[in-house]
Amino acid sequence: MVARTVDLRSDTVTKPTEAMRAAMANAEVDDDVLSHDPSALRLETEMAKVTGKEAALFVPSGTMGNLVSVLVHCNIRGSEVILGNNCHIHIFENGGISTIGGVHPRTVKNNDDGTMDIDLIEAAIRDPRGEIVFPTTRLICLENTQANCGGRCLSAEYTDKVGELAKKHGLKLHIDGARIFNASIALGVPVHRLLQAADSASVCLSKGLGAPVGSVIVGSKSFIAKARILRKTLGGGMRQVGILCAADLVALHENVLKLEDDHKKAKMLAEGLNQIKGLRLNVAAVETNIIFFDIVEGAKITAEKLCKNLEHHGILVMQESPVRIRVVLHHQISESDVQYALSCFKQALSGRVQEENGN
Ligand SMILES: *Cc1c(COP(=O)(O)O)cnc(C)c1O
Repeated sequence: MVARTVDLRSDTVTKPTEAMRAAMANAEVDDDVLSHDPSALRLETEMAKVTGKEAALFVPSGTMGNLVSVLVHCNIRGSEVILGNNCHIHIFENGGISTIGGVHPRTVKNNDDGTMDIDLIEAAIRDPRGEIVFPTTRLICLENTQANCGGRCLSAEYTDKVGELAKKHGLKLHIDGARIFNASIALGVPVHRLLQAADSASVCLSKGLGAPVGSVIVGSKSFIAKARILRKTLGGGMRQVGILCAADLVALHENVLKLEDDHKKAKMLAEGLNQIKGLRLNVAAVETNIIFFDIVEGAKITAEKLCKNLEHHGILVMQESPVRIRVVLHHQISESDVQYALSCFKQALSGRVQEENGN
């Protein structure tokens, strides 16, 4: 019997708090397809304000938020989007921009810090004179924080440079800001500043902010008007969504500042893991709540066995490859959970016989 569970698989595993459940129970609601749900309207107004955009739209998931955004910007078949080879839209969204939107992806290498070199982005923009053979570049996508690079933050200065490049070539810029609040807290820069150069952005409330459901996309009024129609087309027009938006508002009001603790706990865990023989990671690269680490060659255990062993002790992590593991911190992991997890890691990598977790 596992007595204690420390779920480090993702920040999506967070459970709604009592305050969220209470807000959901008491939410004012109406039909959101008719744009009459007061809680949805409140959430959209607040999100437009924090992101510095004209308008906002509630969507059921980050995946739909990105899909709708890309499709609004690339509404002509044969459009091409430039995006990082390690980005969520390219890797983890079922290729929806292509299969549903007819949009062609052109990837540029993500550096370890989550950026793409500006000159490589520029080199990837198609020459319009070649339109008889080329797709037409219409959009650049960035991701902040860049999850699969380890939750790395893109600075406002870098984002501005990409924005200038987009303008120079008549392209739009979309930012997948699933964890833009983590970037904002880590950098000490307001969300609206990080998104200043973006024509649109999607923001998740169901990651580290802890809401059960919900993302919001933001942009100009005309962008959001088109997005609203596409959301309906994709089946994302729901009715009394105020039930969900009420929890999202609690997440926005109560959980943003908690992200700072998540980052501290991530640093603490990363430093502890780095001390363990057989594991390798770059502590300096842990800027937010995501840690990737490798099992070194010659370690006493494989990544697969390590995950199994940890699970036996109630520690859940995500295996990324035969040698790589990901852990993610969130507000429902305590410092004592971090210490307990570290002790389980130490034990597993010491090669000693494992005992059941009895506490
Ligand atoms: C989680 C995530 C998404 C998609 O969010 P879902 O709500 O899971 O569809 C998009 N981008 C990034 C970077 C994410 O981490």
